[in-house]
Amino acid sequence: MAAAARRVGRDPAAVQLVAVSKTVPAERIRELAAAGQQVFGENRAQELVAKADALQNLGLVWHMVGHLQRNKVRHVAGRIAMLHSLDSLALAQELDRRLERVGRRLAVLIEVNTSGEPTKFGVQPEAIPSLIQEVARIPSLEIQGLMTIGPNTRDESAVRQAFRLLAGWFRRVREGGMAGAGFQHLSMGMSGDFEWAIEEGATMVRVGTALFGPRPPA
Ligand SMILES: *Cc1c(COP(=O)(O)O)cnc(C)c1O
Repeated sequence: MAAAARRVGRDPAAVQLVAVSKTVPAERIRELAAAGQQVFGENRAQELVAKADALQNLGLVWHMVGHLQRNKVRHVAGRIAMLHSLDSLALAQELDRRLERVGRRLAVLIEVNTSGEPTKFGVQPEAIPSLIQEVARIPSLEIQGLMTIGPNTRDESAVRQAFRLLAGWFRRVREGGMAGAGFQHLSMGMSGDFEWAIEEGATMVRVGTALFGPRPPA
């Protein structure tokens, strides 16, 4: 990560590692936490709740990086520091209802489908401004940036193109004043493409396999 940042003249400290611990047992998370990692990401609500509760004494910071169904919101709303996958106004409203009850605010990133792959979640890039405008009115949510999952290919130019597309929208939102001063994160890059993502401007990479080894087949 540091080498990739330096290659493009960026400060390595400006890129945060979210350790994606899905399928990884709590003991292994404990090991990585002991090595200094604080921020962990999960993509399933039940698993996140189980691990956050089991490891509560470590004071870890939990991010939800996967698609969040509205009926799961109540389980995770009080436990996460950031949701990377906000993709609809309906989800934002459900979050607001739950957060209000627990008296908390939540940092959210808008998930964007930058590859056009139909299997991917996220809004189309053109829908970013309108969703931001709507979510900005919701008191318990703070929009802190954009997130994408790169296209499922080893083709470097296709992956970089998706990251550049998101980085372009990120700049447009910032420079257009569409979001507040807290709009500062670009969550992109996973085990196979985090270096490209950092070179294209990522401030958060979500890495699982490269830290924990391969996951069992789903
Ligand atoms: C699993 C997952 C990751 C991490 O993937 P790796 O290829 O194991 O690094 C990142 N982001 C999301 C949304 C994921 O579901």
